[in-house]
Amino acid sequence: MSAASAASAASAVLFEPGSGLTLGEVAVRGPRAGEVAVEIRAAGVCHSDLHILNGDWPEDRRLVLGHEAAGVVTAVGDGVELLPGDHVVLSWFAPCGRCERCASGKAWLCTGTRAVENVLPDGGTAFSSNGEEVWPFLGLGAFTKSVIVPRSAAVRVDPELPFEVGALLGCAVTTGVGAVVNTAEVRPGETAVVVGCGGVGLATIMGLRLAGAGTIVAVDLSAERRAAAERFGATATLDGAAVDVPAWCQEHLGGADYAFEAVGSPRLIGQLPAMIRSGGAAVVVGMPPIGAKVEIDAFDLADQGKRLLGCNYGSSVAAVDIPRLAGLFLAGRLPLDELVGAQRPLAEAGIAFEELEAGIGLRGILIP
Ligand SMILES: [Zn+2]
Ligand SMILES: [Zn+2]
Repeated sequence: MSAASAASAASAVLFEPGSGLTLGEVAVRGPRAGEVAVEIRAAGVCHSDLHILNGDWPEDRRLVLGHEAAGVVTAVGDGVELLPGDHVVLSWFAPCGRCERCASGKAWLCTGTRAVENVLPDGGTAFSSNGEEVWPFLGLGAFTKSVIVPRSAAVRVDPELPFEVGALLGCAVTTGVGAVVNTAEVRPGETAVVVGCGGVGLATIMGLRLAGAGTIVAVDLSAERRAAAERFGATATLDGAAVDVPAWCQEHLGGADYAFEAVGSPRLIGQLPAMIRSGGAAVVVGMPPIGAKVEIDAFDLADQGKRLLGCNYGSSVAAVDIPRLAGLFLAGRLPLDELVGAQRPLAEAGIAFEELEAGIGLRGILIP
């Protein structure tokens, strides 16, 4: 495939306004200047895709879903130094590289990116179907065979890295580990509670072990996920339906140093400050529905010097953090392969989303 090759059609997992999840065929054009064509080899199924399907994040256009993926470069546009055959992890928050936030090293707060509008940097899309535009979720649209992404969304990684592990580095792992080491800056011996043990929560627990946290308490309604949390480094697990978690944290830990919410539930986020000690930090990692409001004890927050931290993409710079995390996996220090759940063809996307919604299994992967 060359930059000038004709559009090719392939099946894709789509969000269709009004009807939700559908399978369809999309054509993709070749890469233009500053763009990279990537053949997707593995793509994770993330709660953010579910937010679109559930209407939590309103969208009135047809989208190719998928924003957590790894693959191989097949062609590049002018000005791109990547080569066909390079292995890449896709980053869903392609930074512009020029804004004040990017210039100050905070690419995860880039104000110039258009990825969150579900468009490429020029405001367009590389996907079409029967002559109509189809839009890339978070600028990627990874639930199909071939995608066009901006150069800053393609992070070159060691070809030894398995694709399904690379996919998780595109969102869940970078978010969860980053929440610990970048956002919260957890220090050895500090204590933490993690509410929600899906992909992001389990990555947060792995990050806590990597950072040398002392007591690591994992909370989930699923016994299967609590067992997984123990494998990843949790030193205690709680069934959130059976235990008053804030009371438990105060009684057994005197309040944790950190409480991470990895679900995106306003009700659970509101409980975080009551789980931590004075001077501790509550970290909102899971993505809530747009406009969600949280009720917290404001006096307790001020009086006890507690901190409430937002965390987008693990406060990570993808070009720096993704290769580092890949290196830690390849060195045997971050068992990311154990996060990988069922691997399915695109046609079984519906099952993967049902399992995600029901909290069954580990991180589901689609193979286009
Ligand atoms: Zn995600
Ligand atoms: Zn920027």
